[in-house]
Amino acid sequence: MTGSPSDSPIRFGGSDESERPLGRSILRGMLNRCPRCGTGKLFRAFLKPVDRCAVCDENISHQRADDLPPYLVILVLGHLIVGGYMLTDMTFKLPLWAHLAIWAPITIIAALAIIQPIKGGVIGLQWALRMHGFGGHDDTPEDWDQGNGRS
Ligand SMILES: [Zn+2]
Repeated sequence: MTGSPSDSPIRFGGSDESERPLGRSILRGMLNRCPRCGTGKLFRAFLKPVDRCAVCDENISHQRADDLPPYLVILVLGHLIVGGYMLTDMTFKLPLWAHLAIWAPITIIAALAIIQPIKGGVIGLQWALRMHGFGGHDDTPEDWDQGNGRS
C-alpha cells in the first residue's frame, strides 16, 4: 500500500533540514544565547530579541513568543508563591498585611528575574521546532507575510 502525497508529515520552516536539538536550543535561549550557534546574544533589550544573530546571522526576527512567556511565569510563580505563602502561614501566624508585604515584592522580583530566561527558552523551542513560516514557505518573514496576504 502506497501513501498519497497528503499522507506525508507536515514540515514547517521551509526546506532547511539542519539538525535543531530541542533541549539544547531551549537551554541556549534560556541563557540569552542564539539557539543556533550558542554564542551570539539573543536579547538586545530586556525582552526584545535581536533580529539576527551577530555571530552566525541566523534570522530570529520572525520568532513570536507572544503570550506564552508571561503565562509560564504565572504558572511557575503561582505554584511557588502560593505554596510559600501557605507554608509560612501554617508555620508563623502573621497578619495578612505582613504576608502581603513579604510576598508581593518577592513575586514582582521573581517574575522580573525569570521572564527573560523563559522567553529565551520559548524562542529556542520555536526555533528548534521551526515554528515560523508555514506550509513549506522559506524561513524569511517576507515570504511568510506574502503567503498570508499581509504586507
Ligand atoms: Zn547565532
